[in-house]
Amino acid sequence: MKIGVIGGGQLGRMLALAGTPLGMNFAFLDPAPDACAAALGEHIRADYGDQDHLRQLADEVDLVTFEFESVPAETVAFLSQFVPVYPCAESLRIARDRWFEKSMFKDLGIPTPEFADIQSQTDLDQAVASIGLPAVLKTRTLGYDGKGQKVLRAASDVLDAFAELGSVPCILEGFVPFTGEVSLVAVRARDGETRFYPLVHNRHDSGILCLSVASSEHPLQALAEDYVGRVLHKLNYVGVLAFEFFEVDGGLKANEIAPRVHNSGHWTIEGAECSQFENHLRAVAGLPLGSTAKVGESAMLNFIGEVPPVAKVIAIDDCHLHHYGKAFKVGRKVGHATLRCADRATLDKQIAAVEALIAEA
Ligand code: AMP
Repeated sequence: MKIGVIGGGQLGRMLALAGTPLGMNFAFLDPAPDACAAALGEHIRADYGDQDHLRQLADEVDLVTFEFESVPAETVAFLSQFVPVYPCAESLRIARDRWFEKSMFKDLGIPTPEFADIQSQTDLDQAVASIGLPAVLKTRTLGYDGKGQKVLRAASDVLDAFAELGSVPCILEGFVPFTGEVSLVAVRARDGETRFYPLVHNRHDSGILCLSVASSEHPLQALAEDYVGRVLHKLNYVGVLAFEFFEVDGGLKANEIAPRVHNSGHWTIEGAECSQFENHLRAVAGLPLGSTAKVGESAMLNFIGEVPPVAKVIAIDDCHLHHYGKAFKVGRKVGHATLRCADRATLDKQIAAVEALIAEA
């Protein structure tokens, strides 16, 4: 079976690494000459709106999936005429726009911060008057890793905030005084069967994920599964979806969804019976899903900007290196390490060992 992937970054690369043993081949459509997934399959180098090359991709593959959500709606609609596309166009339409996403949470009764649609500075002034400060202004589309957002703490922060974010459609969200950030990665098959990985605790640095730790029997697991299940059912979703939550007042508030494999699920490569990458491929290909059970205690640390010396990383017991083969650049995710240990005390010790290497690099 040949799988077409829109986007050729590290997520596409790890999909191919998981799918190759299942007998799958891959083609990646990505305009970047140095797309790092190209090492694992065919690289169709073209813009996401280039219909000739989209048609070429559709003709060559059995189905198309995505490694990022900011795909133009027209691209998805065009491809859907010729080849099955998972997840569906509607899932991408909702997930790529924070207004649609938050409105869906509200309709489904999933708690989320108070929010308002912002089309102008006047809208912003009115929304600040009703939501209050602090608050977070975010572009509706194309924001990632803390980009395209601004925390508004004082009235002076509000003055030019709409222009500072580029005078594009935004939402204003109430600031959540969270005690932690968690995510739930789930997979739904074509026949509706759904499986959930354990909740993951996430730590961010300057808006970029730096550490994910898979939890054991988290008290909010069942609640998170209920919320994520509502979204999967509503969207008739097929594939892996990640749902990020704020932990607050002993409950959960929805932050955002990603209609794809997700950085907070990378630990599953070594830490779960079947990784998020393999399960995504199983789901979209109509194959039986794999077990989402955790194998031991597990964590993931991102390498941002550069990968520490390989020999030092792999000299740490229980440590598995994933080097994305990308040029090193400040703020860019260029690799990660997964840790899988027998017990939590060992895991904490090994996390500290990897963090020390990152600090040295
Ligand atoms: P996002 O791109 O929406 O995931 O936001 C990036 C990070 O900003 C989140 O992981 C949080 O640490 C922080 N953040 C986002 N929205 C809020 C909010 N409404 N209240 C408090 N912190 C937030």
